[in-house]
Amino acid sequence: MKYWGYFAAKITGLVVFLSALWPLVKRLLPRQEAFFHLSPMWHDLGYTTGVYAFWMLAAGLAYLVVWDQRYRCRTCARRLVMPITKGSWSRMFLFGKPHTEYICPFGHGTLKVPDLQLTGKESPDWAEHQDIWTELETLGSDKR
Ligand SMILES: [Zn+2]
Repeated sequence: MKYWGYFAAKITGLVVFLSALWPLVKRLLPRQEAFFHLSPMWHDLGYTTGVYAFWMLAAGLAYLVVWDQRYRCRTCARRLVMPITKGSWSRMFLFGKPHTEYICPFGHGTLKVPDLQLTGKESPDWAEHQDIWTELETLGSDKR
């Protein structure tokens, strides 16, 4: 819930930012002169280029929002840390396919991002951990 709420907040923030930026960009675009009452889009190179530049900025920021969200914990929405490479490129059958694992700093789960895409785009695999304190207590109770 926190994960999707954070994502919705980022998308909302992006929309608000772009909505506030658009009037400023529109003011900076070259003034269009009335030419048979045509829209300046497609008929004025400077205006069309400015609109496309704004659109590219918006698309780039949206990509960054989604990219950032992929590497966040699904439980607490914090950035995943400590990437480690596992598997082997030369001994895949022995050690598994190469992939990178990221963990939540609070131990909520592990994200496995495949480094090798043999059968098309493979999506990252999120594995939620059990409660680490319960696990530690069971380890400690075995020694007694
Ligand atoms: Zn977490």
